[in-house]
Amino acid sequence: MDIELFMKKVDKKPYPKHWKKFVDKHYIEQNIFFKFGNKCLCTCCEHEFKAGKGFNIGELKECPSCHNKFVVFGNSIYYRYKTFRKDIIMCQKIDGKVVIRVFEIASYFDYEIKKMVRDEQEYAREILGVGSFHGDSIYFYLGYGRVYHNCDNTYWRSYDGVRDYAVLPCYPYNKQNLKNNTIMKYAPIEEFLRENPYCNYLQALKLAAYPSFESLWKMGLKNLSQYSYKFKKTGTFKKRFGVSKNHLPFIVKNDLTYDQFNTFKILQKEDMNLIKTYKNFTIPRLRKLKKIFNLEHIDLVSQLNLVNDEKIEYILNFVNAKELGKYRQIKDNFLIYYDYLTFIEKLGFDMKNKKYLFPKNLKSLHDKYAQEVSIKENIIISTSISQRFLDLSPYIYENEKYIIYPAPTFYSLEEESSNMGHCVRSYAERYAKGTTEIFFMREKSDTTKSLVTVEFNNKHIIQKRQKGNDNTTIEQNEFLSEWENFRNKKRKIKLLEPTRDLLVA
Ligand SMILES: [Zn+2]
Repeated sequence: MDIELFMKKVDKKPYPKHWKKFVDKHYIEQNIFFKFGNKCLCTCCEHEFKAGKGFNIGELKECPSCHNKFVVFGNSIYYRYKTFRKDIIMCQKIDGKVVIRVFEIASYFDYEIKKMVRDEQEYAREILGVGSFHGDSIYFYLGYGRVYHNCDNTYWRSYDGVRDYAVLPCYPYNKQNLKNNTIMKYAPIEEFLRENPYCNYLQALKLAAYPSFESLWKMGLKNLSQYSYKFKKTGTFKKRFGVSKNHLPFIVKNDLTYDQFNTFKILQKEDMNLIKTYKNFTIPRLRKLKKIFNLEHIDLVSQLNLVNDEKIEYILNFVNAKELGKYRQIKDNFLIYYDYLTFIEKLGFDMKNKKYLFPKNLKSLHDKYAQEVSIKENIIISTSISQRFLDLSPYIYENEKYIIYPAPTFYSLEEESSNMGHCVRSYAERYAKGTTEIFFMREKSDTTKSLVTVEFNNKHIIQKRQKGNDNTTIEQNEFLSEWENFRNKKRKIKLLEPTRDLLVA
């Protein structure tokens, strides 16, 4: 189908006879009361009246003349920039195709002429049985569509978003006539609507515009007929559906939904329990897991929907999918098993020994080795932190009142964070690895008492925190900026020997 040509035909087609009446009806709700002084103007019936008590700005009130309810507008900026917007649709038949034309109707109050200014702008079209299109008049920013008025829509681009224009207020009211002389003429639309009461006529018509709709319905695939647009292929059953025709009785008997059908296509097993087990899995995920595990080991595979691929691949480095499927302990414990393997690898176990790979008491061993790994890692961190203290000790600095020195031990970091109520503990690892520097600033009169924790990185103090994340004082800041200069000078010689006092502080 030549979309460009078709759109030109739509452009030339005059609006239906009573379209203007239909639009005006929707404009009624886009009116206001304009309050000036103690007078009030209804923009709907243009009646001007004295606004008595209780006719306040911002409130919803009834007009004494036309009896419609509108909001009372004042003179402030807030009201001056207020625009009412609403979407409505028009259905027209062109060349045996039904096209839904989507318009935004918009009104704002012009304070000069004291009247509502209105405009309707077409911005989208849906050709039933073909697809949806957006004109130049709509732009999307952060997922929010904005319609620009007085725009010609010279170009229409395909739109496959989720907006369903068929639910909008629609002209004409008698939509039944639309299907005459189209392929929807004999489609079982009424039967479909009886069984799908949440669907409106136009939505059903949209589905019926695809030739598959009627055949799906007649085969008894009622749920799948809601997705007629997904079955555009023609030819044999196998070609159209991707499964052998032998499965048709099963699909009909269970009236598979579209999601269930897609799951079934991958499983290729007539087993509703299996289909329900995997119902939340995305199709690519299911396809991938089928490749690895054959999907037979339900205990194992059914927990892998949200587990990331690296974890699965890591495990498969050591054990194969078949063995894993037979390992009972893994039921509901896949991630625990993953952690367990990383622990025994860190602890230097023989990763080929089945006794370690498939332990009989997974959970308790997991907890045991978790502790061993953490002790081992803490020892490594503590050793590096003590080394860091020695490396950074040339930057110990003092004046009459304060002293600042690098965090000397892992323990001192833990203590500082519990004294100060902040999370310096989490910096321990980065400090140990040398990616950041942590210093303690204290008063010389009492170096055992935490005062300010300082993080220095990339030539700057990037954090200075007192207890409870309070800001530092002016006096403290002066000292710290002196120290920052000092820290940035290259030093080779040690100015101050780290004393035992500081190490045990
Ligand atoms: Zn009125």
